[in-house]
Amino acid sequence: MAVLLCSRSESAQEWAKAFAALNAFELRVWPNAGDLSEIDYAIAAHPEEGVLAQCSNLKAIHSLWAGIEHLTNDPSLPKNVPIIRMIDPGLTQGMVEYVFGHVMRYHLLTHIFQAGQARHDWAPMDPPLAQERTIGMLGLGVLGGTIAGKLSDFGFNMLGWSRSPKEIKGVDCLHGENGLIELLSRSSILINLLPNTPATTKLLNAENLAQLPTGACIVNAGRGQLIDDDALLAALDTGQIGGASLDVFWEEPLPKDHPYWSHDKVLVTPHIASVTRISTGAATVVKNLRHLMAGGAIDVIDGVMDPGAGY
Ligand code: NDP
Repeated sequence: MAVLLCSRSESAQEWAKAFAALNAFELRVWPNAGDLSEIDYAIAAHPEEGVLAQCSNLKAIHSLWAGIEHLTNDPSLPKNVPIIRMIDPGLTQGMVEYVFGHVMRYHLLTHIFQAGQARHDWAPMDPPLAQERTIGMLGLGVLGGTIAGKLSDFGFNMLGWSRSPKEIKGVDCLHGENGLIELLSRSSILINLLPNTPATTKLLNAENLAQLPTGACIVNAGRGQLIDDDALLAALDTGQIGGASLDVFWEEPLPKDHPYWSHDKVLVTPHIASVTRISTGAATVVKNLRHLMAGGAIDVIDGVMDPGAGY
């Protein structure tokens, strides 16, 4: 069984070394991969467009990232080959830490005191306790579901929203159009961990931003396309939205002249909320591919993309 590592990311050589050290299969590293029709499985991160289409006997593609647009944006990607996205404990823990940090920034009113400091303004206000704060989580998957549970354990009132009904201890799980409106209307901090699909693009538009309580803050670590940027900038200017931590954008790197860079209510981070850790991620890929190579069923693997849903 031949496995192709096909990645244009900076860490491609480190991944290759990690897989070689695990010595689990015959690894070929693109672009020196020989006859691509001999490839059975591909491990991919931002592959060059058209390469996977040349692997005519491909049985599955394992993404090195949790998001899969770097694969599905390639129009030539073979349609009937299953895609497994990365579910990695290191990646999940990294996202827990990113979201906690930015939630606490807004929960402790740091953004308000920082603005006051710029004006040399001594203006005491008492931050609420966690149990007096309601937080909304858009997306209750591997990342959103884990973080919602941990924020609830910390004491926050947690609301969550997903496509299908869910049960998570300590989280009031909502779904559907009415569930979204209820979550927005009650959440003074809104976290987005939804994937970008035709159903979620520009979900945070003017109409939905207006449903949030005045001064609500947003943490977006899902995808930039979830936000209508013009609507968010307008809502920040009116004070409807009090602050936003944005890690992901329509265009990355964020263009130098984008208004987010200089907006005093926006904190830009350069898509670093969390990354797959090679130390844990390589073992995950090897486990999943070994299972498939041994004839195991693909549907018992966590993270197989549902082509109908787009994530
Ligand atoms: P999952 O696929 O596990 O979870 C996605 C969640 O979104 C699920 O709860 C799903 O609902 C929900 N969802 C999808 N479509 C809709 C919809 N139309 N309406 C309501 N809910 C919907 O993904 P992960 O938690 O692993 O990752 C989430 C996203 O985080 C990734 O897609 C990626 O874009 C982003 N990400 C960002 C990183 C960064 O560094 N900024 C790093 C890693 C990931 P249901 O449960 O019903 O299926």
